[in-house]
Amino acid sequence: MTNICTPDETYVDYKVSENFWFSELIHSDTADRNHINNYPSKQHEKNLIDSCTNLWQPMRKLLGNVVTVSCAYRSEKVNELVGGSSTSAHKYGYAMDFKCPSFGTPYEVVDFLSKVLPKYGIKFDQIICEFNSWIHIAWKSPSGKQRGQILTAKKVNGKTKYLTGLVK
Ligand SMILES: [Zn+2]
Repeated sequence: MTNICTPDETYVDYKVSENFWFSELIHSDTADRNHINNYPSKQHEKNLIDSCTNLWQPMRKLLGNVVTVSCAYRSEKVNELVGGSSTSAHKYGYAMDFKCPSFGTPYEVVDFLSKVLPKYGIKFDQIICEFNSWIHIAWKSPSGKQRGQILTAKKVNGKTKYLTGLVK
């Protein structure tokens, strides 16, 4: 991936798992546009690797289709610029936003994952169907919890509401 905001020239991209590159997990259009460094700390890099190994790659395998990552890790500054919650799991390398159009709509993807992940004993903290436009999937909460929550984000009177469960 080009135009990546990196700490220095010694940065070398690598494959975190069969289908995910490290560069995909730290890429941010907002960071590129604003020339902000979106490179994680060693701890946050480790969290990204854990999330990928334990959840995102197994999920990718079950979906059996290309997963397009729009954003995983967000530095404090990038999170602020995209209007993310101050307690966002993205800041810790625990969350990823993606689409999988060749599998189906975000609604269909969340419906599938909510059934298949528990069946295979794959833990997660949250899966959110975001406005039926993308999926947010978190391995852990910032405090390390794995609540197994399924939520639906919807705009109600211009405000974002998080509804319990998958709602059409
Ligand atoms: Zn997200």
